[in-house]
Order: sequence, then structure tokens, then C-alpha cells
Amino acid sequence: MATIKPIEGRSVHQIQSGQVIVDLQSVCKELVENSIDAGATSIEVRFKNNGLDAIEVQDNGAGISPEDYDTIALKHYTSKLSTYDDLSSLQTFGFRGEALSSLCALSKFHIVTARASDGPKGTKLEFEQSGQLRGTSVVAAKQGTTVVVESLFYNLPVRRKELEKTIKREYNKVLALLNAYACVSTGVKFSVSNQLPKGKKTIAFSTNSNPNTKENIANVFGAKTLVALIPLNLTFEMDPSNRPGATQSARNWSTQEDAGSRTVAIVGHISRPVVGEGRQTPDKQMFFVNSRPCTLPQVAKAFNEVYKSYNITQSPFIFADIKLDTNAYDVNVSPDKRTILLHDQTTLLESLKEALIELFEGHDQSVPHAQLQ
Ligand code: ADP
Ligand code: MG
Repeated sequence: MATIKPIEGRSVHQIQSGQVIVDLQSVCKELVENSIDAGATSIEVRFKNNGLDAIEVQDNGAGISPEDYDTIALKHYTSKLSTYDDLSSLQTFGFRGEALSSLCALSKFHIVTARASDGPKGTKLEFEQSGQLRGTSVVAAKQGTTVVVESLFYNLPVRRKELEKTIKREYNKVLALLNAYACVSTGVKFSVSNQLPKGKKTIAFSTNSNPNTKENIANVFGAKTLVALIPLNLTFEMDPSNRPGATQSARNWSTQEDAGSRTVAIVGHISRPVVGEGRQTPDKQMFFVNSRPCTLPQVAKAFNEVYKSYNITQSPFIFADIKLDTNAYDVNVSPDKRTILLHDQTTLLESLKEALIELFEGHDQSVPHAQLQ
């Protein structure tokens, strides 16, 4: 008798969903990214009981068309990508059509949405665990979309228990991630609040629709943060094929027809390495690739190493956005899209260190960094 059999569909869905939505941070990341992709200029994130009871993300983006209600939460249904080739020119955060379907499988989930043409009326969408639309009803709503995630992991007892045990730490991790989205998103007003069961609602932080990242940083971390910062504006040409021992991927990259793909720019803000100066500046470090927040441990290490050679007593504030051609990195590495693979990272790190030394050496330390006007 055959012992190898397919796993039943519902269980497969639950197993896969658990890889996309791994924790509180992934819920917020997916929902905020959807709001930005929908062109929102205002995003409000509301936590109830640190996110344990509910996470709500409300935006004023385009809203959802009635024609899409049936498929919006089905697995691999997306408005952002249709073939694998599109991935190399991706301009949106999302592309796999997995977030909403995973949230249906792992939480009590609903959406309220309204388009500009819908007037003051919106539609509430409710779903089955499978992502099938269960029903719709008319509700009062402003233009945009609100996604409500209640009782995250209620049907995965081990994960739910772990979430309850670690919720304070998880909540702080989420705030750090939301800080990064708020700082990098110019022209978008962010507001993040938390309602504890018996306490009052507290605003964790908020930004105005600032035209630049510097003002976003001032809103999020306080204006004093800016005192110790200098602009980061590094540009270098990379020709990985010329290096001895260059990897095959580096060679492939360097032979691409698009000559622009070899120019790398790193823009943002960093603490001046002057001992004692940045006491008011939190040692926050945020990294982005084309404005996509991500963890880049090797890049972080390179920044910190160079900084430490000038100032061993402090850790720098870093906001570094690496501007790369879209085919010079891969976001499709892990289901939660947190890991980004940079092609020929070694060459990039070497060039980065050289450029940073030049920046720190060349910077006239007696001139204070321009403050907000
Ligand atoms: P992906 O972002 O990879 O496309 P999701 O499951 O996150 O997958 O979302 C599925 C689709 O739902 C999106 O492609 C988009 O068309 C729509 N959508 C999700 N969130 C919003 C939102 N806040 N506003 C408008 N449309 C949205
Ligand atoms: Mg998405």
C-alpha cells in the first residue's frame, strides 16, 4: 500500500501561511507595504493590547474594486506581478499575493474598503480561512482601506502562547520596523497608537507628510537627533569583473547591457564620529534597498567598523538607503521577504568602506550639520 499521499489542501495552506506571517512584525510589514503600494499618503496603525487583541492598518489609498473582492485574499492572486520576469523590474513592495491569504488562515480577519467614487459608503469584506470571500456588507467609510487582524495565531496554540509570552518585546520590534517605514516614506503621514485594555490610547509616534527623510527622522526620534547627523551621499562605480577572484554572479552582473546598473548610491544620514557629540542621538540603525527596509548584517557591520575606528565610545545613528538597479539584488529569498540578496556584496562592501573613510576624513568637524530650517 502506498504510504506517500498529498497533504490535505487546508493543512498545506496553514503550513505555508505560517512561513509568510511568522510574527507580529510580519503582519505590520505586509499591511503597511500594501498601503504604500496602494498609493496612500496617510497610514494609521492601531494596536490593541500591544497587538495581541488586534492590529488595524487604515490607509487613504486607492481602495479595492468590487471586481477584486472575490479574489483579493486567494493565494497567489496579486495586482502587482504576473510572470516571473516581472520580478526583475519590480516597483512595488508586494509581488507574491500571499499576505492577505495567510492572514485569513491565521487570524480573525476582515477588510473595509472604499474607492473615491464610492462616496461615504464602503464595503466590509469577510473571508473564510481559505481566503474565499464569505460575504460583504455596506458600512460607512472614507476613501481607502482598513485591514483588521484580530487574535493573531488563535488557531496555532504553540505560536499564540509564545506571542503572549513575548508580546512586549515583539511590540518594540514592530515599532522599530514602523520607524523605518515612517522615516523612509516621504510625503506619507504615519500615526501609530496602542490601546491597552484598561489604559488609555497612547500615540507611539507620528510623522507629518514631510517632503524629506530628515524631517521624518526629526518627527520620529526628536529634533535633537539631527544635531549630530551629517548627510550620507556616497556614490561609487562598481566593476566587479575587474577584481581578481570575482564571482560568476559578479561577472554576470557586470556584463549586463544596462551600464547604469554598475553605479551604486548610498544616501541618508549618519552620526559624525565626534566623541561625545551625539549623546542625544539614539543608536538607531536603519538600512534600505531602494527604500525597502531590510536587514543587511554585512552592510551594518561595515558601517560600524569604520565608525568605530574614529569613535570607539559611541554607536552611530545610521539611515542608509542603497540605491541599486532592480536586477542587482533579489528580494525573493525568503517567504517573509526580509532577506535581500545583494549581487556581489563583497565588492560593494569594499567600496562602501573606502567611501565612508573618505567621508569621515574629509568632513570638517568644526562645522555643525545644518539643522532644520
Ligand atoms: P501582494 O501585495 O503580494 O500583491 P497581498 O496578499 O498583500 O499580495 O495583497 C493582495 C492584493 O490585494 C494586492 O495585490 C492589492 O491589489 C490588494 N490590496 C491589498 N492591500 C490593499 C490596500 N491596502 N489597498 C488597496 N489594495 C490592496
Ligand atoms: Mg502585499
